[in-house]
Amino acid sequence: VRVRFVSGESFGTRSMATYVETGDVKIFIDPGAALAPRRYGLPPHPKELEKLESDWKRIAEYASACDVVVVTHYHRDHFSAVRHVDRVYRGKTVLLKSVESSINPSQRARGKALLSRIGDLASRVEFADGRRFTFGDTILEFSRPLPHGVDDRLGYVLEVHITDGRRSFVFTSDVEGPSLDEHLRFIIEREPDIVYVDGPATYLAGAKYPEDAVEAAVENLLRIVEEVESLKVLVVDHHLTRDINWEARIARVIEACRDRKVWIGTAAEYMGERPMFLEANRRALYAESCDAAPGGKGGNG
Ligand SMILES: [Zn+2]
Ligand SMILES: [Zn+2]
Repeated sequence: VRVRFVSGESFGTRSMATYVETGDVKIFIDPGAALAPRRYGLPPHPKELEKLESDWKRIAEYASACDVVVVTHYHRDHFSAVRHVDRVYRGKTVLLKSVESSINPSQRARGKALLSRIGDLASRVEFADGRRFTFGDTILEFSRPLPHGVDDRLGYVLEVHITDGRRSFVFTSDVEGPSLDEHLRFIIEREPDIVYVDGPATYLAGAKYPEDAVEAAVENLLRIVEEVESLKVLVVDHHLTRDINWEARIARVIEACRDRKVWIGTAAEYMGERPMFLEANRRALYAESCDAAPGGKGGNG
């Protein structure tokens, strides 16, 4: 199993776009990217808009080379609804979150729109909830629908497991942590070498995201590091890295990884690139480039 991270907060957009290749099959998980419409009261900075365009190009390139496309849920940063639809889905086996059950109204509407869009484009379309698919020696397995965070207010997501019998990769999607035992169980039971987690949404802590949930997520991340003996790499990105102080938030997890010699870092770092947290630095970006500020009034630092 070879994993390449294509976009994400550490690359400068909101995304978990991931390419996975085995000897049997090429899989793209969550071919989408987006920007926070508002952060610190500011709209996306021109640098973010530019990065979004180039990341979408990369997503389309990688996805077009794939056999299988996975959509874990219907939030706009996780699938292509408009951009590069043809390149992403044409001729592909598309395995996606069911729109029939365990789904909230907004995601159901987007999911149904996607299904009608790709009906004639994809070669095969299947709801993947709780299912397992094999491609040669490769097993692609999905969790049953799990809450998007501590409750199902934002709907449900599917976690993804891919193994070729030698290495094993778990992609948690938007579990926000993992914050619940059921999120954690799917990860631990798969005995993965590599885990990609979205992390707790600490940037919303206090207001929209309970502090208890942050605490639960840190405890669960610690359990992954301590209980999964096969674990070699823990990639954290997406929700967690919207927080400029993300490292301090999970200091105990970073320390546990150091003790156990597990590599921990962001998706960009795993790819050997310097992380570029554009959203978390949006205020600073506007302060640096006063000309680019909305309304031409200058940055508000
Ligand atoms: Zn989501
Ligand atoms: Zn997301």
